[in-house]
Amino acid sequence: MNYEQIAKKLKAYCLDMPLQTFAVLADHTFIQTGGMTDIYVQPTSADQAQQVVRFCHAQQLPLTILGFGTNVIIRDSGIRGVVMNLNLLDYITVNENMITAGSGASLIKVSRTARDYNLSGLEFACGIPGSVGGALMMNAGAYGGEISFVLTKATVLTRTGEQLVLHMPDFEFGYRSSVFEHSDYIVLEAGFELTHGDSSSIQEKMDHFTFLRESKQPLEYPSCGSVFKRPPHLFAGKLIADSGLQGLRIGGAEVSTKHAGFIVNIDRATSADYLELIAHILRTVKEKFDVELETEVKIIGDMQP
Ligand SMILES: Cc1cc2nc3c(=O)[nH]c(=O)nc-3n(C[C@H](O)[C@H](O)[C@H](O)COP(=O)(O)OP(=O)(O)OC[C@H]3O[C@@H](n4cnc5c(N)ncnc54)[C@H](O)[C@@H]3O)c2cc1C
Repeated sequence: MNYEQIAKKLKAYCLDMPLQTFAVLADHTFIQTGGMTDIYVQPTSADQAQQVVRFCHAQQLPLTILGFGTNVIIRDSGIRGVVMNLNLLDYITVNENMITAGSGASLIKVSRTARDYNLSGLEFACGIPGSVGGALMMNAGAYGGEISFVLTKATVLTRTGEQLVLHMPDFEFGYRSSVFEHSDYIVLEAGFELTHGDSSSIQEKMDHFTFLRESKQPLEYPSCGSVFKRPPHLFAGKLIADSGLQGLRIGGAEVSTKHAGFIVNIDRATSADYLELIAHILRTVKEKFDVELETEVKIIGDMQP
């Protein structure tokens, strides 16, 4: 069966689901690179997402999950099989001090909703441009806060399509890591427990974090945020800057002159440009400082052209 036939079968299985064959992934990543995928789907409900997972499992089709694409580099050869994007699961509900959000809700919107309901704990997230699903997966954090401090419940799918509800002790959070990553779970929904606060002091904190972000990060260009994890007791950006790499450009990708931990797409960069620049940074920092940087950004997709 070719992908056109598989797509037809999947469409019949999940009737009203948006489905595209041979989709351009650059349209779905923040850095605007990424090749093509065979089938791109956007389930409209958790049940539909479960059907997609079961279908892919039964047909032995590779299944990749994409959130807002703010923390991925997809190789230029693209992704074979099915890419599932859960952005249509974007509901946010508030019940006393609990916020429940679908995997495809914007983390920034969840943070603003918390503020609107005088709930504190998600101020740190006010400028993190990813989805809730991606934020759980990455244990996203900034300015002393992170997802692990506020997440109390998560609904996930296993790769065979079983739905599970996880609670606080199950999350195995570490620095930019989680059980969602270790166990290859697909996040459907998150429950955040917050504390009652006052919206003006919450807004003040958010303003401060926004000021820091805008003054330090090259937000005027496409990027995938901090490319590297922070090594213990060091800063990746400083190591890169001290290696004299700021402003170094390969193809259309450049080590930001504003924040050395960011690589910006300044002129129609490809993923190959990004990956070459990353390899060069890893080599140079190792040679100069004997530090092995590790990428925070997820590098996914086919190795073969
Ligand atoms: C300008 C800028 C600033 C940033 N600042 C920060 C920051 O301060 N702190 C921080 O932590 N990050 C930051 N990031 C990185 C990024 O926004 C976060 O890591 C975010 O949580 C990723 O979410 P996403 O939806 O974009 O995930 P994607 O990039 O789409 O995916 C990231 C990974 O999560 C997986 N994934 C996505 N959705 C799901 C799901 N529903 N279930 C299972 N797996 C899933 C993907 O398969 C992939 O492996 C920044 C990025 C940019 C571009």
